Amino acid sequence: MHASAALGRISPSPTLAITSRVLELKRAGVDVIGLGAGEPDFDTPDFVKEAAIQAIRDGKTKYTNVDGTIELKQAIVAKFARDNNLTYTTDQISVNVGGKHTLFNAMVATIDPGDEVVIPAPYWVSYPDVVQFAGGVPVIVKAGPEVGYKLDPAALDAAITPKTKWVILNSPSNPTGAGYTIDELRALGAVLAKHPHVWIFADDMYEHIVYDGFKFATIAEACPELFERTLTVNGCSKAYAMTGWRIGYGAGASWLIKAMAKLQSQSTSNPCSIAQAAAVAALNGDQSFLAERNTAFQGRRDLVVSMLNDIDGMHCPTPEGAFYVYPSFAELIGKTTPNGRLIDTDEAMVGYLLDDAKVAVVQGAAFGLSPAFRISYATSDALLREACTRIQTACAALK
Ligand code: PLP
Repeated sequence: MHASAALGRISPSPTLAITSRVLELKRAGVDVIGLGAGEPDFDTPDFVKEAAIQAIRDGKTKYTNVDGTIELKQAIVAKFARDNNLTYTTDQISVNVGGKHTLFNAMVATIDPGDEVVIPAPYWVSYPDVVQFAGGVPVIVKAGPEVGYKLDPAALDAAITPKTKWVILNSPSNPTGAGYTIDELRALGAVLAKHPHVWIFADDMYEHIVYDGFKFATIAEACPELFERTLTVNGCSKAYAMTGWRIGYGAGASWLIKAMAKLQSQSTSNPCSIAQAAAVAALNGDQSFLAERNTAFQGRRDLVVSMLNDIDGMHCPTPEGAFYVYPSFAELIGKTTPNGRLIDTDEAMVGYLLDDAKVAVVQGAAFGLSPAFRISYATSDALLREACTRIQTACAALK
């Protein structure tokens, strides 16, 4: 017996690997600061927790409809109307076990061997792996600092072939925090309008985490002509600090939603009934806590960006959203550490920061664009200040 060929096409999630390494070190008594995990440090709001407790008391503890309760689908329809000016019906909504599951269902339900999926880099780590698991071919298009980490319309046009099935857009982005303006989405839409066989997977997971008045837009809203071939994806993990509850969702053509439900019916069945009840409360409830949390996130972003930019050889752009920064350290490549190790790759830099500075970050190589690393700043100001001071000291010691 050996593992399948499909399994051989994927690697374990590098961000989850860093998180478990940090836990191991902490258990061994090492004073390590973990900036690897992609989750808010805030707690799930109390009104959401109360709704879950009430759901248990009310006996909402049984199987539900495979791809979501009608109550949750209605709450999602209302969310899209309220936040995105998008009109969906409940048969156009699929509720899944986290946004990662939405991605998995959509790709596995639609990809035939050899189908291509255009993925701008740097990308969220799961996109290429899930595409490959499904038998598809990720077509990576570089979107580096020179284009603000956003897909260039001409580069998109050049990447599309007759085999292209999907293009994946993620705004604001994990790992860079870059967000597309409505005009930038329209420019991409103009390219996609010329290629009617290409579908759009719009990952809006960080929609609500935006700064400096950045106006979030999603492509189905920006380009109504693409509505029919867009799967608009979102979830509760990041905005509502509900990573452990595992609720994500997608909205799109009803045939696609049915196809995803068919796959889900033979894998997970419904997402947890209690988590679904909690998600109804999150989506329908008072959203004002989001602005308060964003103010805290924005302060942390500014702190981290300025402390990293104080390092000679490090360049850290100021992101529009999410809770990550993605500093580039090209000028430090080729230097050596005090104990003689060469900094020649992202992994070498990340290993040095972990071993010597006791700060855990994730290598840019995992996100497909080097030399860089990702910092998640969803932790306290005090820890961020300490972590950045340690990074400054470690970088200053490079020769
Ligand atoms: N999309 C992006 C860009 C993400 O960063 C994540 C989580 O890290 C997800 C989707 C999926 O989140 P979840 O599966 O917790 O809903």
